[in-house]
Amino acid sequence: MNLSMSLRTSAMRLPKHPAITAGGTTQSYGVLEDRVGRLAAGLKSRLRLARGSRVGLAMENSADYLMILYGVWRAGLVAVPMNAKLHAKEISFILRNSDCKLCFATPDVAERLGSESRGNLPRIVVAGTRDLEQLLANEPVTAVASAPEDEAWLFYTSGTTGRPKGAVLSHRNLMFMSHCYYADIDHVDERDVKIHAAPLSHASGLYAIPHLAKGSHQIVLAGSFDPDQIYDLLALHENVTLFGAPTMVTRLVNHGRAGTAAVKNLKTLYFGGAPMYVSDLERALELFGPRLTQIYGQGESPMTITSSPKHLLGQSCRPRREALLASCGFARTGVEVKVVDENGQPVGADEIGEVITRSDCVMQGYWDNAEANAKSLRDGWLWTGDLGSMDAEGFLTLKDRSKDMIISGGSNIYPRELEEVLLKHPSVLECAVIGVPDAEWGEVVTAFVSLRPGHEVSDVALDRLCLDNVARYKRPRSYHRVEVLPKSSYGKILKTELRAQVAANRIKEEPDG
Ligand code: AMP
Repeated sequence: MNLSMSLRTSAMRLPKHPAITAGGTTQSYGVLEDRVGRLAAGLKSRLRLARGSRVGLAMENSADYLMILYGVWRAGLVAVPMNAKLHAKEISFILRNSDCKLCFATPDVAERLGSESRGNLPRIVVAGTRDLEQLLANEPVTAVASAPEDEAWLFYTSGTTGRPKGAVLSHRNLMFMSHCYYADIDHVDERDVKIHAAPLSHASGLYAIPHLAKGSHQIVLAGSFDPDQIYDLLALHENVTLFGAPTMVTRLVNHGRAGTAAVKNLKTLYFGGAPMYVSDLERALELFGPRLTQIYGQGESPMTITSSPKHLLGQSCRPRREALLASCGFARTGVEVKVVDENGQPVGADEIGEVITRSDCVMQGYWDNAEANAKSLRDGWLWTGDLGSMDAEGFLTLKDRSKDMIISGGSNIYPRELEEVLLKHPSVLECAVIGVPDAEWGEVVTAFVSLRPGHEVSDVALDRLCLDNVARYKRPRSYHRVEVLPKSSYGKILKTELRAQVAANRIKEEPDG
């Protein structure tokens, strides 16, 4: 099984059906399949890349992204998608670390890479130029020899601590991920439209796989996330599926067009990758109804550890509703999930421990990193580094990444608990809580808040809110108001950046209200 052959199945059945729309042009499934086959031929016969060679994709979202991804697979090669916003040094590190033999780059990234030392860097092919078109001038390859265990995608972790690590995902891993999509999230067919408003190098691109295998129409957006553009598309297309990091969902909710009729065209809005706070989710459910699905996964088990299905999130009078909204759902079909202590022994219901998982979605291992493999893969289980608790019904609630947990005066404090409370305040738009090193307490709890436009709130009011909801020792000792919280290009709030700003004393404060 090679993932690219599922595109061929769709193309044989639906040659004229739109496959990808981007930058104002649409490629049909027939055209896409033809270009994928031609590129595969160019990679194999012109560039003579041997089966299993790695090929980098340092590309912004663009019309050719998915064509190149599938062309790489059709040629029996391995894709190494990278966040196009990375620094040229970081991209160069990944290209060298993964031993890429070739790299496709969009012009902006190619330009940045051009200023990097070329030593040991592979050849760069610039997408959208003659460079690429020349590689397509071949008779298409329509079949490929491959085994399910062959590597398909090296998913480089964001590397917030140390160097990024390349999680090796096989064709079987991503096929299992796709089957789980159909089992737990949605049935998909050619009547569906999938908007890619987030980078294709991450979650959105991974879920193009189940969609292309069923003939749905991919609309690829470039540039930064623009809620207006999403509402424009919702007015034009039916049966739309969209992925958003929680911060993107919140931006859609806070937009003036949130309550308009176009929302009826939204089939599914799935979100994950970072905590979705209960108050934000409540608002999203009010506006979008039973169209929201939460997923929990990580590059090492892509998109597929737990999920909260649409029909459950949509039930407004379910017992323990707040607990359900705070949870990231239950184990995906065919996936085992446990919460364990440091010895791997399951902890009791509702007790906090590390989340571990075992399934056909779990990576083959990190590339060339025995130390990280020994830590993360034990007896077939993936240790996620996430702390959470599971209730008696099997619903998992994530607390924090173990590295984000605060230890103050010897007590464990989970930032997410405080973030949930601060977001109850009507003036607070976004917030993040971190531990700041302190000689007396080890760490002190520090909150960053950004406020809704035109709103003000005092430290005293925020402190009172915390005292009303959590134990006294957990409450933040200081509040910083910021215009916007730093975010990754995937929309995740960057706590590492906040810690660095505190260390460098670089907080740009808004005045205390
Ligand atoms: P990445 O490998 O970049 O996709 O990041 C994966 C990490 O994002 C996980 O290990 C979690 O810490 C976090 N994450 C993913 N999904 C969720 C979710 N639904 N709720 C809270 N955190 C999440």
